[in-house]
Amino acid sequence: VGCHRPSVSIENSECNYDAVEEINQDLTRQLKQIVSQKFFKYYKLNLFGQCPFWTENHYCTNEDCSVALIDEKHIPEEWRSQALGAISSPQSGMQFQPFKSCNLKDQDFCQVDDEAKGEGVYVDLMKNPERFTGYSGPSAARVWDAIYHENCFNVAHRMQMAADCEQCQLDREKAAAAALEAQKMADHRQMMSSTSGSGGGGGGDSGGFSSAAARPVGGGLGMASVFGSKVGGAGSPPERRHFPLGSASQDEEDMCLEKRVFYRMISGLHASISIHICDEYFNQTTGVWGPNLECFVERVGSHPDRMENLFFDYSMLLRAVSKMSRYLKDYAFCTGNAEEDMQVKGMVDKFIETAQRAPASFDEKVMFVGPAAQQLKTEFRDHYRNITRIMDCVGCEKCRLWGKVQTSGLATALKVLFSYNDESFSSGSANHPVLLQRTEIVALFNTLNRFSESIESIARFRKLYLEEYGYR
Ligand code: FAD
Repeated sequence: VGCHRPSVSIENSECNYDAVEEINQDLTRQLKQIVSQKFFKYYKLNLFGQCPFWTENHYCTNEDCSVALIDEKHIPEEWRSQALGAISSPQSGMQFQPFKSCNLKDQDFCQVDDEAKGEGVYVDLMKNPERFTGYSGPSAARVWDAIYHENCFNVAHRMQMAADCEQCQLDREKAAAAALEAQKMADHRQMMSSTSGSGGGGGGDSGGFSSAAARPVGGGLGMASVFGSKVGGAGSPPERRHFPLGSASQDEEDMCLEKRVFYRMISGLHASISIHICDEYFNQTTGVWGPNLECFVERVGSHPDRMENLFFDYSMLLRAVSKMSRYLKDYAFCTGNAEEDMQVKGMVDKFIETAQRAPASFDEKVMFVGPAAQQLKTEFRDHYRNITRIMDCVGCEKCRLWGKVQTSGLATALKVLFSYNDESFSSGSANHPVLLQRTEIVALFNTLNRFSESIESIARFRKLYLEEYGYR
């Protein structure tokens, strides 16, 4: 007998695709502007770390795989390693924290690369767009395999399942007692009124499961319901409809909620990366860059679950921004130029206002509850950290760069959602300057931008598809 966690809003909340896509039109415009600012486009990271898990011999030598580095002299003076090395605490009036040295702390879901240290390189993210590089084959497959393998939770998962089973058992016992009672009443009524013929009284048919344990399974979304496609076999006109964010497949039925969330996060990231590859694809025959519809349909469009997972990540990232909105509104976006600082601040404030109008589909409060919550959270965090370390095994510089940016962006969202409570962000960054480092905020916004662009691309591919196959 499978024991499930009760239905929760993370799983059953309706993701209103139309509403998300609509608001994304505004958000994507604003994000593009934000990430083109100096504060957000210069990112320092350790790009040339050793793969800690295996000897990676594959290096993509293709020109498109390489990353253009920038000389530190082009970045604001306050950020440079030499200057940073000399500063041990923020200058007065500057709350932004590239300076603090940061080791792996309990609350971190990844190693936060420290801008204060000399190691690492600066990259202009705008000059290194994520797109088709040609990186594929056994090396890429091995990395994805290793990433998905991290979805194997052990002790905490078993403890949580056992706890859930205990709850199921209690529910079953309660329901069985209620059914017995109902049966007794029915028998009694039948005895008292032999002419009425009333029987049953029911209740025993529930199998003892609480109604809360019943949740939609499988999603049942054909391609047509998400994208509209001949590929889906349905042949019906394309329409976008609302569907549960977290519909679980039969295979996922024995997973606890946190494990499903973990899987969804990775799969959503994978889908977003694939969309960028297909959207900016290099046709080796014609030598032309452009969207590749077949690539999109094959990798994402014909897999509604992958698309769901991408929207899932986007909702999670937006929820993180919303949770830290008060903090961000107070944040000093130090660019080395006071006027520019204010401009960036204005852009971020406006973005927050728009983001808060997005449908709220992610509720972090339903996660990590119950007797094994702490162990599960630690295990979740450790597995996620491993994923960020696996990025050093990606055999293509540019793929590694964006893999690192996006896994760090998601790690920041996880940290905001699960390592800090609402109060932590309630009084603005001035009171809590060290909650997040600059690199974390930069990664978070650039990751949001990537997912936002992916959602924009889905709309473009849908249009292309309609043109190609003639559906109205
Ligand atoms: P892959 O995308 O490698 O997928 C492997 C298998 O995973 C599939 O066969 C499928 O079974 C499963 N799968 C695929 N998508 C999902 C999903 N969303 N959810 C669940 N399961 C799924 N290449 C570039 O050209 N540019 C890049 O910027 C780039 N960045 C990368 C970043 C990382 C971190 C990694 C690991 C790879 C990157 N690659 C990039 C390579 C790219 O992701 C593919 O691996 C490559 O294009 C080969 O694709 P594929 O069709 O063999 O399937």
